[in-house]
Amino acid sequence: MLCRSRGFKVVFHVLATSILWSAGACDAQRHASSPVDSSQIAEPLVDLMAVSWIHGAEDCDAGRRESDYVEWQQVRYQVNTVIFRQNKCSNYEAPFVYLFIGTEMALLIDTGATLDAGAALVDSIRAVTDLAVIVAHSHGHGDHRLGDDAFRNTDGMTVVETGAGAVREFFDFENWPDEPVTLELGAREIELLPIPGHATDDLAFYDPISKFVVTGDTLYPGRLYIGEWREYHASISRLATWVENKSVLYVMGTHIEMSKTPNVDYPIGTTYQPDEHHLPLSVSDVTILQEAIANMGIPRKTRLGSFILWPR
Ligand SMILES: [Zn+2]
Ligand SMILES: [Zn+2]
Repeated sequence: MLCRSRGFKVVFHVLATSILWSAGACDAQRHASSPVDSSQIAEPLVDLMAVSWIHGAEDCDAGRRESDYVEWQQVRYQVNTVIFRQNKCSNYEAPFVYLFIGTEMALLIDTGATLDAGAALVDSIRAVTDLAVIVAHSHGHGDHRLGDDAFRNTDGMTVVETGAGAVREFFDFENWPDEPVTLELGAREIELLPIPGHATDDLAFYDPISKFVVTGDTLYPGRLYIGEWREYHASISRLATWVENKSVLYVMGTHIEMSKTPNVDYPIGTTYQPDEHHLPLSVSDVTILQEAIANMGIPRKTRLGSFILWPR
């Protein structure tokens, strides 16, 4: 695959449709990318600590009728790094979705909480890149994959099925969950680490260009629901070790449920969060989480400032 025959570790899983698509897409990408100076690629275009995300409305029925209503907010963090957030008036989960674009293909993490939102997201992504897209997931819960069908029906998009078995096979993990794998997008190598515990198929993604670690629902400014405590504990330890030797700017989750006031979250199911916490967390939050778990005998709900440990 794709524009030239480099040694991708996983992209041979990409379907024939993607390969056909790529022939034209590569020409488009070469054309589109030629004016971009490589030194500009990593340049942040916005301050993510100051971004105001769409956070719902007091009256969402009225909100959806507004002329400026959008299904997704799109924030271009770098030339080739885009973050989307689903509108809280579309679905209260309001998940975040990440797009990392390489020179030869792109990686999308998650597809949103509804099929309609997935269709809108396909259009947004095709407006940003013509490249073939691997559509992976932070994990298999519905609020992160219910847009999948819109991607399955789009040329050049390859959806990675959810579930630990499917994820392991697609990305060719040899030692799940202990060892990471890499995904080469072309001048951008994303590293993937299994971190099951919230679900059974959670992945963390490290991108060296944005310096993001995307942690899905495993760590984000909100309620960290833990399905399997022992697995989660092991995953957070593995995550802490993994990030130790990396240059990490932000730890990026897939929801915001906390307010700006430490330890105070919005009610479950709310569609209006006017004073919400910023999205980025940091490596120090990984440490806070790891230490809290290590020091906890019996798993219990614990407020840790920017997030809440929430064993099921
Ligand atoms: Zn989840
Ligand atoms: Zn979620």
